[in-house]
Amino acid sequence: MTWVMTPEGKIRVGKILCLVRNYRAHADEFGQEVPPEPTCFLKPSTSIVHDGDKIVIPEIVSDLQAEAELAVVIGTTATRIPKDSAYDFVLGYAVFLDITARNLQQEAAQEGLPWTLAKGMDTFGPISDIRARQEVANPHRLQVVLRVNEEVRQRASTKEMIHPVPDIIASVSSHMTLERGDVLATGTPQGVPRIGPGDILEGEIESVGRVSVVVEAENSP
Ligand code: MG
Repeated sequence: MTWVMTPEGKIRVGKILCLVRNYRAHADEFGQEVPPEPTCFLKPSTSIVHDGDKIVIPEIVSDLQAEAELAVVIGTTATRIPKDSAYDFVLGYAVFLDITARNLQQEAAQEGLPWTLAKGMDTFGPISDIRARQEVANPHRLQVVLRVNEEVRQRASTKEMIHPVPDIIASVSSHMTLERGDVLATGTPQGVPRIGPGDILEGEIESVGRVSVVVEAENSP
C-alpha cells in the first residue's frame, strides 16, 4: 500500500492532484499565463516516497527538477464541496516535492501529448508526515522552503497562492469526488531548481513538517 503517516497512523494515498501555475512568480519564470480556474494534473500514488528515501533518475531523464509545495490531504470523502466549508474536509497538511522530468514534459508538450510520464515515475513524489488541520492556524501564512545540499533554492509564502485552498477543493470536487487520502499539491513558488545525482533535497514548511531525500541515478552502484 502507498501510504502517508497521519497523527493517527498510516492511511492509504489515493489520487494525487497537482496544481499548475498557482504562484504568479513561478508562471512568470516559465513565461506562462496563469489559468483563471484552479488547473491540475494527476500524479499516480505509486510515485510516493518518504523522508529518508531516494529519488531515482531513469536514464531517459536529462533535466530533473524539484518543486516544493504545500499538500492538502483530504479526510472526508465528498463531491461538490462548498467553498465555505472546504476546511471541514481536510485531514491535514504535508510537504510535497513535485519531482519533474522537465525534458520529457517539454518534449511531450511540444508534440501536444500528455506528459504523465514526466511527472509520474516511481519516486517522483516525496511527502512528509501529515500535520493535523487543527494544528495549522492558517495554511496561507506558511513559508515554503526547498534546500538543495543545504542551500536555499525556493523560499516563498503560501499567501502568494493565486487559488487558495478552499477554491481548489471546491473547484476540483465539483468535477470529481475527493476521497479520504487524496492529496492536493497546491503548486510551487518560483526558483524551481535543477537537481542531479548526489543532491540532498530538503523541503520544509513551518508548522507543517519536512521531508528530505537523496537523488540517485538509475543503475548507479
Ligand atoms: Mg508542481
